[in-house]
Amino acid sequence: MLGLAGLPLGLRFRFLDPSREAPAASVGELVVGAYDDASALRRLADGADAVTFEFENVSAGALESLSGLAPVWPPPGALQVAQDRIAEKDLFRSLGVEVRAYHAVTTKDELDAAAAALGYPLVLKTRRFGYDGKGQAVVRDAAALEQAWSEIGGAPGGCIAEEFVAFSREVSVIAVRGPRGEFDAYPLVENEHREGILRRTIAPAPGVSPAMTRRAREAAKRVMEHTGYVGVLAIEFFVVGVGAESTLVANEMAPRVHNSGHWSIEGAHCSQFENHCRAVAGLPLGPCELAGESAMLNLIGTPYETARSAMARGGVRVHWYGKEPRAGRKVGHLTLVGPDSHAGSVVLARELGLMS
Ligand code: AMP
Repeated sequence: MLGLAGLPLGLRFRFLDPSREAPAASVGELVVGAYDDASALRRLADGADAVTFEFENVSAGALESLSGLAPVWPPPGALQVAQDRIAEKDLFRSLGVEVRAYHAVTTKDELDAAAAALGYPLVLKTRRFGYDGKGQAVVRDAAALEQAWSEIGGAPGGCIAEEFVAFSREVSVIAVRGPRGEFDAYPLVENEHREGILRRTIAPAPGVSPAMTRRAREAAKRVMEHTGYVGVLAIEFFVVGVGAESTLVANEMAPRVHNSGHWSIEGAHCSQFENHCRAVAGLPLGPCELAGESAMLNLIGTPYETARSAMARGGVRVHWYGKEPRAGRKVGHLTLVGPDSHAGSVVLARELGLMS
């Protein structure tokens, strides 16, 4: 999607992916290799004006090693922080972005002490290499704590025990920063997860106060200024409480284009993908204004037949990534734009069996 957005700007792409079947191969040259394969990385960066990434589990060290060949954006330091849930929450806290209680745990004794401090329920997650709900568990009592520890306690890098946040909803901000410090952000969007995987995003998030928008933009701006960021950054928040009393609690950040910004291809004047390309290429940023209300539904392990039937419906934009459907794998997404899109996406999800 980055490549598709950059081509009309005159940009050309080379991609690195461990799989020969990588969807990006249809948009530019593909280098097949592991993300930490030194010679593949050199081939990737050879002659490039800039290097970027859209997957978080790449090695920050490998990216760092490329910085002599081409500028690497977002900065590998920001990726390093985002790869460690403790470092990420420490950064939020140091910048005055609200987070709830959390404890680093590497032993069962530390976990028991964290559970005594947090109470139940709590959330146990691996510090590193977790995504789409993998490597985490909501723990409701001591027996479940034993169980969760036996499943993920041995993760390399240890774990984080977090306060369970009783949120009323989840929102995210997608922000973009250029190399001269230019900054903008899309309106807040609302996200619906099941089993830790994003299912649906609606843009803009309904009923968001100007104060909440300001706080989310400010959080992104502080993180970006602190890390010398160039490109698109997403921060996911829990909304605690309702109406005028509600507050934003940061959950995590993603130093890349984000699934909760996919709607922007049709739903904004300049998509997150185009803005990321513009930022890393040093081009003027595009407008983050909405083209209208929109909704995005993820296709997760969905057969192509379902995407095909969505194409037959007026107003549904289909993005099929060309990946083999497997349980839990994101293989595409659908976007609806217009005043009926929020309600329409609920009906469409039900009819296509996307959120059962
Ligand atoms: P994460 O991998 O941290 O983005 O977590 C995936 C999803 O799990 C979040 O979007 C929430 O829906 C849920 N979740 C994660 N952490 C917490 C928490 N501390 N309290 C309540 N729900 C959580």
